[in-house]
Amino acid sequence: MSNELKTQVVVLGGGPGGYSAAFRAADLGLEVTLVESRETLGGVCLNVGCIPSKALLHVAKVIDDAAEMSSHGVTFGAPKIDLDEVRSWKDSVVGQLTGGLDGMAKMRKVKVVSGYGKFTGSNTLDVEGADGKTTITFDNAIIAAGSKPVNLPFIPEDDRVIDSTGALELKDVPEKLLVLGGGIIGLEMGTVYRALGSAIDVVEFADQLVPAADKDIIKIYQKHVKDKFNVMLSTKVTGVEAKDDGLYVTFEGKNAPAEPVRYDKVLVAVGRTPNGNMLDADKAGVNIDERGFINVDKQLRTNVEHIFAIGDLVGQPMLAHKAVHEGHVAAEVISGQKHYFDPKCIPSIAYTDPEIAWAGVTEKEAKEQGLSIETAVFPWAASGRAIASSRTEGSTKLIFDKESGRIIGGAMIGINAGEMLGEIGLGIEMGADGEDLALTIHAHPTLNESIGLAAEIFEGSITDLP
Ligand code: FAD
Repeated sequence: MSNELKTQVVVLGGGPGGYSAAFRAADLGLEVTLVESRETLGGVCLNVGCIPSKALLHVAKVIDDAAEMSSHGVTFGAPKIDLDEVRSWKDSVVGQLTGGLDGMAKMRKVKVVSGYGKFTGSNTLDVEGADGKTTITFDNAIIAAGSKPVNLPFIPEDDRVIDSTGALELKDVPEKLLVLGGGIIGLEMGTVYRALGSAIDVVEFADQLVPAADKDIIKIYQKHVKDKFNVMLSTKVTGVEAKDDGLYVTFEGKNAPAEPVRYDKVLVAVGRTPNGNMLDADKAGVNIDERGFINVDKQLRTNVEHIFAIGDLVGQPMLAHKAVHEGHVAAEVISGQKHYFDPKCIPSIAYTDPEIAWAGVTEKEAKEQGLSIETAVFPWAASGRAIASSRTEGSTKLIFDKESGRIIGGAMIGINAGEMLGEIGLGIEMGADGEDLALTIHAHPTLNESIGLAAEIFEGSITDLP
């Protein structure tokens, strides 16, 4: 069966970027068609990314917190884990959110077309779905087709080699799991599997975990997890041999074991690659670079006037909140508004234990860019709330422009660091200086008091920290 439809705006991809763009365009009075090849809206983030990983991290945190209580006089005993129940709870969280999106699309009269879309010309797109082919003629398009995990060519295809999507399926809890890649996704999944009972090795090519974050922050993380993960830094995997009794992994580098090591499963988490090359976007005249990214200007416009692109496939950082804001801007520009995407900061968070969170420039970036900065650090060992929670490993660092005294970056490590990062982001966006932050009364005893206290250190009003 072949269908034809005309629309003012077609959005290709129903992830955070795509559905946000579609909903904003519809709210602005445009007629919108949203094309998605998955059975549910929500993209990677809701289906196999941000949300299921956080549901499982919640389970991991409760297990860890319960275990820790034994040193405070409360013993719960060993957890009994019913993996089927954990999985179905995680799936129900995902279902609640993806189902909600269906309702929101209907409410806004966004037409959702199910199937895989490819451009056939500058104003046409064909969608192949279960109901046959739909040819869509559009005035404007927003490409929001996202990204997929990077595969390593030397790793064999084997059920025991998984990516983040496989890890989130939670088929079993391997006795010994290698996390290949010490970035955010690898560490979050490692946190989940360790709490469920796996012994975890993490191998990272760089000389620190989460290479994008500042070393002083990551050192705290590495110290905190040293008894939980066996971390091999400055080391790479050179081969994986699949045998009946396990996966034998060969390493090379500073901390490489001399002999191949046997694992029950290997989780490959070495980054994501854009889906730009899979859309025949060249048939619409859209330029795609050799890695599959689509270049856009500040209005998210590609080299073709009426075609926009957003989210993971326009570049780093590959984060849902970046995609959402880009989606809004693209929709607003199409509706005739003069908006553009130019944030002062895009926050990054690893929802590990402890959490690692940063926004604005890192100290590393400030050095590379030759910026003149001053930093102020408040160690959580001096925070009443951290002590009362027996989580004093945390730290809050603010980075100020030396001349203006304005905050241009900040990082936090510790429990709930991600929730508190918003204040630093707001300060950066609003051009707040140290005094603004120091004079803002933060409630006591809270962990985010540490932001005000770090600002007081910068202002010189605290000098006698323990
Ligand atoms: P996607 O979410 O990738 O959506 C693109 C959609 O387009 C997909 O549904 C795909 O099926 C569809 N599509 C692609 N091509 C076509 C086509 N030709 N036709 C029809 N449909 C098509 N980010 C955060 O900000 N916070 C987190 O905590 C976080 N955790 C993560 C955890 C994991 C395990 C992973 C893998 C990612 C995580 N991310 C997180 C990243 C986040 O998921 C992505 O940045 C975000 O989903 C990107 O949104 P997007 O709209 O660009 O694309």
